Amino acid sequence: MKNTKEKEHYLKEILRLEMAAKTVSVSCIAEVLGVSKSSVSNMIKKLVSMDLLNSAPYKAIEFTPKGRDLARTIIAKHRLIESFLVEVMDFDPENVHEIAEEIEHIKSPAFFRKVQQMLDNRELDPHGSPIPNVKF
Ligand SMILES: [Zn+2]
Repeated sequence: MKNTKEKEHYLKEILRLEMAAKTVSVSCIAEVLGVSKSSVSNMIKKLVSMDLLNSAPYKAIEFTPKGRDLARTIIAKHRLIESFLVEVMDFDPENVHEIAEEIEHIKSPAFFRKVQQMLDNRELDPHGSPIPNVKF
């Protein structure tokens, strides 16, 4: 479970870097996650072996189609949960990120379909970031 969470965390951050039009490299991932470059390299190797990323010497790290789908799904879960906490549960937008970090690792597609439906397929999260349009 801890491994799944860590893996999903990496994929999410890599997609965020990519969305911010940054070149995705071991050193920039290490910087955003606050971990050593060697831990990043190890995790990248694992993600490449799982067919989630492509990586070659002197080239930017890229998603495979499977990796990109998974990363988009995790970001969609995170942002849907943040929206749900604010709109339905009346949380302060400042306080929802940490809770979403935990709930985003729930598997149940039925749960997220329901959240999506209750939010009327909204497009932006409470921080104004786009919610990827994912079919759970
Ligand atoms: Zn957040």
